Amino acid sequence: MDDKAGTASKRYIVSSCLAGLATRYDAAAAPCGSVEAAVERGAAIPFCPEQGGGLKTPRTPAEIVGGDGHDVLKGNARVITGDGEDVTEEFVRGAKQMLILARLTHASAAILKSDSPSCGAGTIYDGTFSGNMVEGDGVAAALLREAGFEIITEKEFKDD
Ligand code: SF4
Repeated sequence: MDDKAGTASKRYIVSSCLAGLATRYDAAAAPCGSVEAAVERGAAIPFCPEQGGGLKTPRTPAEIVGGDGHDVLKGNARVITGDGEDVTEEFVRGAKQMLILARLTHASAAILKSDSPSCGAGTIYDGTFSGNMVEGDGVAAALLREAGFEIITEKEFKDD
């Protein structure tokens, strides 16, 4: 079997907050048991693209304004914090770091935290800080998807 449910032989790069690391903007984790199990058995490497891009923890939450992660990578949208600070450069840098690590560790798929402006896959916040969601990928999810990685959210992943 080689589908979204995962296989024992597959290697993953995963959002570090899903592995129980306190990397979220509020210095909390978002642990997911099946992701933690994949890390424990050596099949998954955790990484936080926002920390990897140079942002501190805790940090002011950010949203993509003017599009999604693919638009950010094209230079057509920006990542802005709730305080109005432009953190696009940090988000793009962190996404590129995550791609490097994914390639170094021979991952073929990424298990990413849903809804995040970095890791969200399929849906993200709409850039108005009102809790509304729109279709689209976060910046790291977009870069990994464009590089050919299979993208899975924690809601879809089941560790074998
Ligand atoms: Fe988790 Fe990704 Fe946010 Fe880092 S950027 S805390 S890995 S969702």
